[in-house]
Amino acid sequence: MLRSVEITAELTGPLRDERFHNLHWQKRLELSLDCFICGRGRRTTALQYGLEHALCSADDASPEHPTAARIAAFDVTDERERTVLRAVVDYWWAPFRDAKDNHAATALSHTPWVRLHLGYYCPQARQSGTLSIQTNMVRPVRDTCGHCDHLLATSKDAPAIRILN
Ligand SMILES: [Zn+2]
Ligand SMILES: [Zn+2]
Repeated sequence: MLRSVEITAELTGPLRDERFHNLHWQKRLELSLDCFICGRGRRTTALQYGLEHALCSADDASPEHPTAARIAAFDVTDERERTVLRAVVDYWWAPFRDAKDNHAATALSHTPWVRLHLGYYCPQARQSGTLSIQTNMVRPVRDTCGHCDHLLATSKDAPAIRILN
């Protein structure tokens, strides 16, 4: 059955200060999903906006493979002091038991996890850079520019993940 999960995340600035780095969400993410194709729970699944399929990550027992998941919505709200992302991921889910530990799969994986990516451009170094935030980090996380060490944004709360249907 088709399932949808909503992911929301917020970063606080100042985002438009005198050293503007053009911090922006990249339209890709990794989300933990219970994958009926390889029969494993909590697989890291890589999604890119615009692609009609995703990639379920490999482990020792099963190779990386395409899976039926996509980013259905990717909405960013930028304000002076914060930027908010709301993404919706649609995916096909079917019940199964994990091939390794025999747990029943769930539509939203047990202790769901997400990683989100951002890009920026350093006006001082004149080089671009990337950073990511993910569920399991000790917060608040203060992200700085990899070139000039300028504070780019702060992640106070873990991204929220909830199932829509
Ligand atoms: Zn899989
Ligand atoms: Zn910089």
